[in-house]
Amino acid sequence: MRAVSEHPVATHRIVRYRDDTGFEMQCALCRGWWPLSLEYWTPKSGLVRCKGCWRAYFRAKERGYRSVEAVAQAKRDAGRLAYWVNRDANLAAQRRWRAAHREETSAYNRAYRAAHKAELAAKRRAYHAECRSVILTKKRVRYAEGGGTMSPSILTGRTPATGDSATEHAESPGRLA
Ligand SMILES: [Zn+2]
Repeated sequence: MRAVSEHPVATHRIVRYRDDTGFEMQCALCRGWWPLSLEYWTPKSGLVRCKGCWRAYFRAKERGYRSVEAVAQAKRDAGRLAYWVNRDANLAAQRRWRAAHREETSAYNRAYRAAHKAELAAKRRAYHAECRSVILTKKRVRYAEGGGTMSPSILTGRTPATGDSATEHAESPGRLA
């Protein structure tokens, strides 16, 4: 007796039906619901992963990934795709919400800044301290391009022994412009 299908596939996965898209099944890897057609599924590969996930898997294998790594990579690809598919909708929702709550948002921000004055100032100082080397590098480049004079500490990259680097402003010492 002939088999019903060339590639009989047993599946116990849940299928759903929607008026607009018809029968759909969920991919175990990307969690996406895809129409039950050969466009989205490859029966001979099994009906656990959708075609897109299999493609990502084989791409990763071609790049020399082991099976476990390839599955992880396919999952990452699917996540990235889902993010981009929903990105516009998410951003639009965010904008709508902000537009509808403009007053409350700025009132909240004002209150927050007032209540966290010292903390925020400390954060700003820490940022300048942390980015000091980058700021100094930029200044050195500007100086090399003929952008004015600088104090010796900037040219050598050394902090003066008496200086308090944590409170030092980005543009000091040597703001001569
Ligand atoms: Zn999938």
